[in-house]
Amino acid sequence: MAVKLVIDGINVEVQDGTTILEAAKSVGINIPTFCYDPSMEIYGGCRICVVEVERARTLVASCTMPVSEGMVVYTESPRVVEARKSILTLMLANHPNDCLTCEKAGVCKLQEYAYRYEVRFGEITGDKHSYEIEDNNPYIERDMNKCILCGKCVRTCSQVEGRKVLGFINRGFNTKVSPAFDVTYAESNCVHCFRCVSVCPVGALKDKRAAGQGRKWELEKKEVDCTFCDYGCKFEVGSKKGKVVYVTPKNPGNGRPLCLKGKIGNELKHVDNPKAPYIKEGNEFVETTWPKALGLEELIEKIVNSQAR
Ligand code: SF4
Ligand code: SF4
Ligand code: SF4
Repeated sequence: MAVKLVIDGINVEVQDGTTILEAAKSVGINIPTFCYDPSMEIYGGCRICVVEVERARTLVASCTMPVSEGMVVYTESPRVVEARKSILTLMLANHPNDCLTCEKAGVCKLQEYAYRYEVRFGEITGDKHSYEIEDNNPYIERDMNKCILCGKCVRTCSQVEGRKVLGFINRGFNTKVSPAFDVTYAESNCVHCFRCVSVCPVGALKDKRAAGQGRKWELEKKEVDCTFCDYGCKFEVGSKKGKVVYVTPKNPGNGRPLCLKGKIGNELKHVDNPKAPYIKEGNEFVETTWPKALGLEELIEKIVNSQAR
């Protein structure tokens, strides 16, 4: 059944059950989001998407609130803007001022919204975390000082990957996203598939193999299908001046678990001088050969043996 409503003075008609966020998007209104991702279940945790609805007592999270007939919505009213500024001010109070060297600069949602709502670092001061940067594997670097606790990595690992490596630990100011018992990715059952890296809206999770090779706005992007198994997952390939500098899982992908083999296999296929692959032995990563990393050793041996006969 169709529902008619008005958003920022625009008449909108959408199907019953559509959220205000999706209805606004359908007419080109861009409501900010951190935790929303259409490939995952609705979460409603970050509150940056709040909007004002006529006759509602409080602001409502547009990603969770379904539309209703005759609803009148304001997505940028003074109350809404004030609420968003407060959220951003609190986030920046506990965030490293590292945009100059951060890999995410230019595509970081925190940076984008701070600019949009004119919120600066240091408007209020408070305690800051000083987590050690996790750098004990060759693939993913984690800087939890930059984490805004949107939970997207937790949900994608559980709902899309089906691996459930991550969760929220501790409480209040010390709440943190981590594998169980606060171990590192390397010490957990993480397979370094990069799905969490691809959905993180800020620079908390970094693809180490692509770091330092170009700012995101300098890169040309194209989508490729992985050919290393029958599932054909989607990857994004980024190049600078014709040279491929990164391969990353395409969000939302095709809705099935990814593997590290696909990521590094596509690096071998597309990147000019790919870095050596590593495989995990116990909790340690050891450099290996491409056939071994891609599980092609047996096949190559068979081919070599058949040619020797
Ligand atoms: S995560 Fe975003 S806001 Fe934080 S330092 Fe990096 S670019 Fe800046
Ligand atoms: S890299 Fe993949 S398996 Fe590891 S935590 Fe992230 S989503 Fe989960
Ligand atoms: S690491 Fe990134 S995706 Fe995960 S909760 Fe923090 S900000 Fe969100």
